[in-house]
Amino acid sequence: MSNYEYLLSDINKINGIGTKTAKLFRKKNINTIFDLLWNLPRDIIDRSDLRKINQLQIGKIQTISVNVRKYNFPRVRNLPNRVLCEDETGKLDCIFFNSYEGYIRKILPLNSRVIISGKINFYKNRYQITNPTYLGNNINSIKKVDTKYSLTEGLNEKKYNKIISQVLNKIPDLNEWLNKNISNKFENIKWKDAIIQLHDPKNLNKRGSFYKRLVFDEILSSFLINSKIRKSVKKLKKTKKKFSSNNIKHITNKIDFELTKDQLKAINEINDDLRSGQKMFRLLQGDVGSGKTIVALTSILNVINSKFQVAFMAPTEILAQQHYNLAKSLLPDNVKIDILTSKTDNKIKKKIINDLENHQIDLLIGTHSLFQNKINYRKLGLIIIDEQHKFGVKQRKKLSDKGGKNCDILVMSATPIPRTMIMTIFGDMDVSIIKSKPKNRKEITTLSKLDKKINEILAFLKKQIKNGNQIFWVCPLIEESKKVDHQSSVSRYEYLKKNFSNKVGILHGNLDKDKKEKILNDFLNKKIDILVSTTVIEVGIDFPNANVIVIENANKFGLSQLHQLRGRVGRGDKEAYCILMFKSNLSENAKKRIKILKSSNDGFKISEEDMKLRGYGDLLGFKQSGIQSFRIADPILNEDLFFLAEQEVKRIEVTNENIDNYMPLLKMYDRADILNDLV
Ligand code: ADP
Ligand code: MG
Repeated sequence: MSNYEYLLSDINKINGIGTKTAKLFRKKNINTIFDLLWNLPRDIIDRSDLRKINQLQIGKIQTISVNVRKYNFPRVRNLPNRVLCEDETGKLDCIFFNSYEGYIRKILPLNSRVIISGKINFYKNRYQITNPTYLGNNINSIKKVDTKYSLTEGLNEKKYNKIISQVLNKIPDLNEWLNKNISNKFENIKWKDAIIQLHDPKNLNKRGSFYKRLVFDEILSSFLINSKIRKSVKKLKKTKKKFSSNNIKHITNKIDFELTKDQLKAINEINDDLRSGQKMFRLLQGDVGSGKTIVALTSILNVINSKFQVAFMAPTEILAQQHYNLAKSLLPDNVKIDILTSKTDNKIKKKIINDLENHQIDLLIGTHSLFQNKINYRKLGLIIIDEQHKFGVKQRKKLSDKGGKNCDILVMSATPIPRTMIMTIFGDMDVSIIKSKPKNRKEITTLSKLDKKINEILAFLKKQIKNGNQIFWVCPLIEESKKVDHQSSVSRYEYLKKNFSNKVGILHGNLDKDKKEKILNDFLNKKIDILVSTTVIEVGIDFPNANVIVIENANKFGLSQLHQLRGRVGRGDKEAYCILMFKSNLSENAKKRIKILKSSNDGFKISEEDMKLRGYGDLLGFKQSGIQSFRIADPILNEDLFFLAEQEVKRIEVTNENIDNYMPLLKMYDRADILNDLV
């Protein structure tokens, strides 16, 4: 057994942790000894503050030495047990919920002197402590400063501290994995010592070399795993795809604009990958409206002309439908295209499954349904994943495996995230970036309005509509109740219908496929002027004629989300507006955020500012998604260490350093069990 394996062993290996306690830990996602080490101290308890009863301060945690005088065990359910204690200056009650008489008699024997500690309350003219911590009877043997952890219910501090100090004592010496140069930067503090310092109450909130070393380890492990994936992908040999510049021409002939410099560059990078003998694993990153779909379609055509099939996955049905319509209109007539979503009729689905297996479909567009178990492609050559920023390394890897060895992977994302995050989340892929926006893009004017001024908004919209423009009206999903959300968007729809002679449509999750399609078509054909919707229009959708977007309850959204929504307009050549509605006056913080949004149209800049205000974990819902989230590393605060880790991984790659050295690091930090999957 390598010595780091102790750290990876189950928590029930710890003395004093039986099945019951282990269960409590598992509830908090602590399964191994290593996990336990990352339950970090939250606070310090200073037990050196020994008080007399008449000096106690209510609300504080304090320590006292008292004589035990009298028991009161009511033996009635729900009534607590009480013990009366006193010192020379006064009396104090100890209240015990859920503690047995026997236990109380043992720790607080009648007429003995004991030292206890706990939060001080005052009730019915007397001090009291609920569930006090028993510290012993000898003041000299008490640890003066103790670390406070956020505890699981059912575990008391004393027991927890005993467990953690046992574990800290048993951490094995590990061979240093860091390169000498790097280790020097952190004062050569060893991992083990850094962890011990991390738990030392003296170091609470300190961010010295010991801390930085641990942050660096966390980033390095994540980057090294990405590097390993990249290498294993590069090893795969595939049948090269053919490439013809006619394919680009075929598509550009059908559009009335010129591709931007960055679009052409991305197309070339993708084509080089397709033509090569190595599997493509590429991210196409570009702000909303930068024109990624066209880039995708040209690569699709190359793959199809090389006699392979393509699967194109969108995050929502509506977007899938839109991609489908676009593909139908831009790809040559002989390309067989179909669409599959969770709403697809069973009969049609059966036919699609059959057609796929017989290569009667060249391009299948859809949602997650594209990769159900039942669905088998005859000869899949390319998977495109659009706007799925919650798709983690592991899911991409799985998809790539499902696609087989000849299948290239292209992920497209408008999620504007800072470079430190791209390195982390997409570090397993090559990256193409579209920076330049199409020439005809107008700056979007962003305004904020209070709800009660809705009449001004309506007057403005009437003018816009008179000029032939169209409007998006967004009613946000307020998580609390789907039903209420639905009602509020429906009543807004009714209200607008009265004001705009019925030329209003509504789009929400409960509509079936045909209705949705009809409404989208009505909007596209200008049969309706205003499209009311919940946030289903957030990602991807493209209606160049819409130039105003009204967003109700705008404070319910993150900045990046607002930027995404705003990106739905300003795609044609008309002046575009984004109107943010608020129920009441804005708080200072909210004002700051709106100011950022108004002053910039650059998604990357906005997200970086947003992160600074909100912290990175929250930004894109990564916390909930189970994607790489760090324990202590922070892509904003530790930017320098991210770049250092990037450099270091490059050095390791270039020098072909044997990465066995790093095995303890990788094995311990690999949260998604990626290494085991790689072999
Ligand atoms: P996104 O990158 O957000 O997915 P889309 O691919 O949906 O953007 O493109 C947004 C709109 O811009 C579409 O209407 C598309 O036809 C148009 N478009 C794409 N490329 C260009 C270009 N080079 N010049 C002008 N308009 C373009
Ligand atoms: Mg898109």
